[in-house]
Amino acid sequence: MEVVRVDYLVIGSGVAGLRAAIGLASEGSVYVITKDELKESSTEYAQGGIAVALSDEDTIGIHFEDTIKAGDGLCDEDAVRVLVNEGPERIMELISWGAEFDRSGTKLAFTMEAAHSRRRILHAQGDSTGREIERVLINKARNMPVIRKYSFAYVLDLIIIDGLCYGAYVLKDGQVEAILAQATVLATGGAGQVYLRTTNPAVATGDGIAAAFRAGAVIEDMEFVQFHPTSLFAPLAPQFLLSEALRGEGAILRNIHKEEFIRNYHPEGELAARDIVSRAIVSEMQRTKSRHVYLDITHLDADYIKKRFPRIYRTCLKYDIDITTELIPVCPAAHYLMGGVKTDTAGRTSIPGLFAAGEVACTGVHGANRLASNSLLEGLVFGARAAAEAVNSRISPMEVSPSDLTLPLSGDRIEDADEIRQAIRKAMWENAGIIRSSKSLSTALETINKWDHVLDKTYSTRYDNEIKNMLQTSYLIVTSALKRQESVGAHYRNDSPPEPHIP
Ligand SMILES: Cc1cc2nc3c(=O)[nH]c(=O)nc-3n(C[C@H](O)[C@H](O)[C@H](O)COP(=O)(O)OP(=O)(O)OC[C@H]3O[C@@H](n4cnc5c(N)ncnc54)[C@H](O)[C@@H]3O)c2cc1C
Repeated sequence: MEVVRVDYLVIGSGVAGLRAAIGLASEGSVYVITKDELKESSTEYAQGGIAVALSDEDTIGIHFEDTIKAGDGLCDEDAVRVLVNEGPERIMELISWGAEFDRSGTKLAFTMEAAHSRRRILHAQGDSTGREIERVLINKARNMPVIRKYSFAYVLDLIIIDGLCYGAYVLKDGQVEAILAQATVLATGGAGQVYLRTTNPAVATGDGIAAAFRAGAVIEDMEFVQFHPTSLFAPLAPQFLLSEALRGEGAILRNIHKEEFIRNYHPEGELAARDIVSRAIVSEMQRTKSRHVYLDITHLDADYIKKRFPRIYRTCLKYDIDITTELIPVCPAAHYLMGGVKTDTAGRTSIPGLFAAGEVACTGVHGANRLASNSLLEGLVFGARAAAEAVNSRISPMEVSPSDLTLPLSGDRIEDADEIRQAIRKAMWENAGIIRSSKSLSTALETINKWDHVLDKTYSTRYDNEIKNMLQTSYLIVTSALKRQESVGAHYRNDSPPEPHIP
């Protein structure tokens, strides 16, 4: 096996991984490993924006309170404090590196999103915020020669010896390489692909969580999956996200009969929190025996829509839906994983030598439910923190000899791989999705357990290893959801609905 030695290893090239790599670059050589092309990540597709307390009407304290409220009592208050306090500095730094957020005249333009009590969402080119952030971070990293980018390289597992993490085994062009590092930052993003309907890109298969779990890291809060209420529902179209900001700007939800319905479920209507809106849509779809509802923005000025939502307008038009004149068919979809590899506020996991940041990590910032647009900020703030701490607590891989390094690849392919993948995604969507119960979760677990033999091997293709990791991650979500018997935040069990709030 080829052995590569580097000072720092970063796994993933979204906002968290790139920000960590930039932080590490002044301290030594950095490898950024990513399984697809560099920009392919959830970050690249993030639309609505990034939350930060920088507007005249806002304060750090109010951002703190809104985040805590969304987390439904389960946020780690120290982590939230770090996020809201350090957010403005990280954003100003990004602007100094060339990020162009939309402005109104010379001032930054802030928009509103559900569950925020102030206008605090920065956006870029209307609805391409993530793309702008990814562009700026890639450019910055390109100008730092110590950062080496290793694309289409797939991390199979972490290198763990005597309880310490010394790097990762990587599959590249069919061969396994061992990359040894003094510190490893895991930034592999989320796991939306375990659900049949998801806004996440194909790379989001939970690899980092599964690898950390196999390595013995503490994994936390996996039952908390946020579902986005509105993804495009059209036979030939991808499950493209229709940003919350559409509802923020006045878009109306209508059922299959084109009737408004959301206020029958919640007095805040279209601007109620994400999980409330998602559950209302699912209930309305069940009531009207339909597979989707509609989002209607036709009452707004067409030129304004095209200017404010250029990417959404163009994408829908590609699938023959002119959102300025037609209703958009939508359905909820898995969007964001609040849980993940447990870290402290410095990005330390339970394994020395291993750090985690971004969606793969569970800092406790989001509690039981994420406040919209806090995740890009989390990637920036905790990516930078994980880098700083990684420098402080390096371990020495000098003693690791090549004979300590083994990862036998199975020559087998997973039999019926496509069928297994589809069956997991269907079982998770139908039984461990927006509305769950002990019975439905047990059904999901039965399906997952049918293939537990798949977990025993490491395969020679990315596709097969992704299926293994999807199984592992699904298992973690379902078993955590079974354990948490009460409904809280995004985890809603209809066999234990939340107590009604009595004013
Ligand atoms: C459509 C969409 C819209 C969103 N809109 C917003 C928004 O408006 N505001 C907001 O705050 N958040 C938004 N989010 C959420 C936010 O984009 C993500 O939470 C955030 O970008 C995650 O960043 P990350 O760096 O942790 O992971 P990602 O950006 O997903 O990056 C993960 C990286 O890890 C790599 N990787 C994964 N597994 C492996 C492996 N085995 N080996 C090597 N590399 C691997 C991937 O290729 C990728 O480069 C949105 C998400 C989606 C999907």
